[in-house]
Order: sequence, then structure tokens, then C-alpha cells
Amino acid sequence: MAPTFGRASAQRPPAARFSLVVDLAERPFSRDWWRGAATLLALIAGVTQLAPTMEPLPAGLPIGEGPDQVRQEEALMVGSLDGGSKTGLTMSEGPRARPIASAPARQSRDLSLTFSSGDELGRLLQRSGAAAADAWRAAALVRAQGALPAAGTTLSLRLGAPDSSGQRSIERLHYRARLDLELTLGRSADGVLQVERKALAVDRTPLRIRGSVGGGLYWALRSAGATPAQAADYLQAIGASVDVGSEVMPGDRFELVIAQARASGGETVSGPLLYAGLDRSAGRDLSLVRFPIQGRVQWIDEGASPEPVRSGLMTPVAGPITSSFGPRVHPILRFSRMHNGVDFGAGWGSPIVAAEDGQVVRAGWAGGYGRQVRIAHGGGLVTSYSHMSRIVAPEGGMVRRGELIGYVGSSGLSTGPHLHYEVLRDGAPVNPLGVTLVSRPTIDEGLMAAVRGRARALRGL
Ligand SMILES: [Zn+2]
Repeated sequence: MAPTFGRASAQRPPAARFSLVVDLAERPFSRDWWRGAATLLALIAGVTQLAPTMEPLPAGLPIGEGPDQVRQEEALMVGSLDGGSKTGLTMSEGPRARPIASAPARQSRDLSLTFSSGDELGRLLQRSGAAAADAWRAAALVRAQGALPAAGTTLSLRLGAPDSSGQRSIERLHYRARLDLELTLGRSADGVLQVERKALAVDRTPLRIRGSVGGGLYWALRSAGATPAQAADYLQAIGASVDVGSEVMPGDRFELVIAQARASGGETVSGPLLYAGLDRSAGRDLSLVRFPIQGRVQWIDEGASPEPVRSGLMTPVAGPITSSFGPRVHPILRFSRMHNGVDFGAGWGSPIVAAEDGQVVRAGWAGGYGRQVRIAHGGGLVTSYSHMSRIVAPEGGMVRRGELIGYVGSSGLSTGPHLHYEVLRDGAPVNPLGVTLVSRPTIDEGLMAAVRGRARALRGL
């Protein structure tokens, strides 16, 4: 058998390294075997050298600046405590602790305090070791400046040496009262507590965010840098003019201007959304300016013309009139009765829009009328839209002329999909086609000039 292997081996090219088994069978102590064993040993030696070793802790590390291990050892009471505890854990004295005869009192003490909500500055200072009289005097001085610390403010406090009764005076108190104000309480030459204000430069240039809608408006706003609250503000502002779900296209571009204050130190505080713009690839561009009117925040479109009174109501659905206002034989009840509105023939699911600006006073089921929306437009004028398949306007919400409120259906007492549309004046049905004049609030020309000026200022940053 061995000669067979040997011949096989001999017939192979001499460079064949995978013939170890064959070589072993033939020449158990060949030079190749030793070379293999030596390589293996060298590898083992190398791995051993690379393995991690346990190093002793470096001695003399400054307390608090060492690695976590030092702090952990302090917690376990095996480390130095001369710098005070870093863990907040209660420490008990060990067997090696020895009492000392007297300890020198530190001349002054520097503390960093955090003002929490519901706290009182005087009380906080007193808790921190300040003499009561000083603590309340300091609090009164700060209050007189209208610069009490806000919750979360960090205060640095320096207390003087304790007097005979162990009370410490306030040497210095310093904190950032506001984004643009630093407050320092110190002592005058004759030892009286006094306040020093330092105004900090604050840049109030608003923040401007622009971007393309792409896959979705909300996430595009977020990735452009808007916070969730700012994105929600923007959607709400433009939501009154466009249907964000269906009318905003991927190619549309948005623009936000947000109030912002940036302190010289780099701290930033964001304010409200001031401007909401939308450049639309299809449809009218939006250029909305935040404008408070009589204390209420309104979004006014810069492009809105100070429209005069619009004549007539908008047709609520695209479709022919199949039944007009007046007496007729009811198709289901089979007797002559007054038709209190106008029927529009329109396919199932056709969109129904508000005939005029107003407030949705009903959005729900109304017996034979099926799903019904009623909108009050002011001046005793109400429009009503019945037999809907679906309602989208929320009850109590404000809708604009032309805004989608629901879809055509055949709910309630109806023979097929159509819109039964009524107009009521002071509660009495009137012929919708006869309503030619609607009193509505017009936009003041002076106000529009102010809105346009503000829009220019915000956009031309
Ligand atoms: Zn009808």
C-alpha cells in the first residue's frame, strides 16, 4: 500500500503542499513536517504576545480626572476621598479612619447650584449655606431687577468664611438671567451687596428654511432643519389654503421663516413661525404672513387681493342641476311637497366644496338627509350639503370658500348619488340660485399693505 501512495506522491508536481498526509505515511520525519510544526509554534507564540494583559492602575491620578475605575473604587471605599465623593453615595468611615483634633475652616466656598422650578432664590441660597439675612437680601435685589433665575438655570455662588456663629456671607452670585442678560451680585468696597447687569449681544436675525417637498412634506421640513413643532405650525398655516394631503406636489418648494435669537455665546432660542411660503408647480403659490389681528394670530396671504364683496355663492359640486328649488312630487314619498334646495347630479365620490367661507356647524348624520354638513357664513346665512358618502370637514372647524368638505353619495332618503344643496337665510330655505350677494368681511387695504411689507422684510433676509 505504501508504494502505491509513494508512487502517487512521486507523480504529483513537487510544489504540491497539500500532500502532508501522504508525506507522513511515506516519510514520517521529513523536513516539511518540522517546518509545519515550527510555524504552528510561532503562531501560538504570536497570539500569546497579542493577548490583553491586566495593567495595575496608574498611581497618583488626580481625583475626579481619572478613569471611571477611580470613581468606582471611591464608591467601593477603596479609593481616595480627599476630593469629596463623586458618586453621591453615602460613605461610612472605614476602620482605618482616625479623628483629627481640629480642622481648618475653608475661607471661602465655591458652589454651583441649579435653580429648580417652584424653588425660591432666597431659600436656595440659605440651603446652600448662606446667612439668612444675606440670602433674602440677595433675592430681593435680583427680584427688583426683574431678573430672577428661570428653572434649570445654573448659579455660581461664592460664600465667605464663616463668622463666629458659623454663618457664611455671600461674596458673589453669578448667573445668566436671560439670553441677553448676565447678572452678578457682589460686594461694594464698604461691604454692601449690589447687583451688576451685563447685557449680552443677541442676534435676532430670523432663521430661514427652504427645501423641496420630494417624497413627503412633513419629513422634507424635518430634514431641512425644522423642529416637529415648527413643521406642525407650517402645515397648519398652509392647511387653510391647500389640501396638504393631495394638493402638495413633490416638485413644490417650501420656505419657512422662524423667529430666532442667537446669543454671542452661541445659545439659540427659537420663536414662532413668521412666514410660510409654498411655491407650487400646479396651483397658486402661497405666501403667508403671520399677523396678529385683535390679539388673534392669523395667516394672511401676501397675494390676497383686498377683494370686494364676492357676488354669489360658489357652486358646491361639478354637475348639472337635476331638480330645482320649489314644489315638486317627491320621488320616494310620492306626494307634492316643497323642494327646499337644489339637486346636483354628480357621480359617487365627486368632491363637494364649501360655497363660501364659514364655520362647520354640523358634520354628521341628519335622518333623511343622510350624511350632512351645514356651514354658517355669518349674517344668518347657512348652507347645507346632504346625502354625502363621506364627510371630511370637522364639526366646529373653519372652512374656506372652495375647500373640500366631503364627497357625493346617496346616504339617507335618496334614490341615487346626488348632492341635495340648501341655502337658509335666518333659518328659512331660499333659492340657492337667487343668492347673489353675500356679506363677508373684506380685507382692509391698509392691513394688506402692512402684510406685504412684512412679507418683503421676512423674505428678503
Ligand atoms: Zn334634493
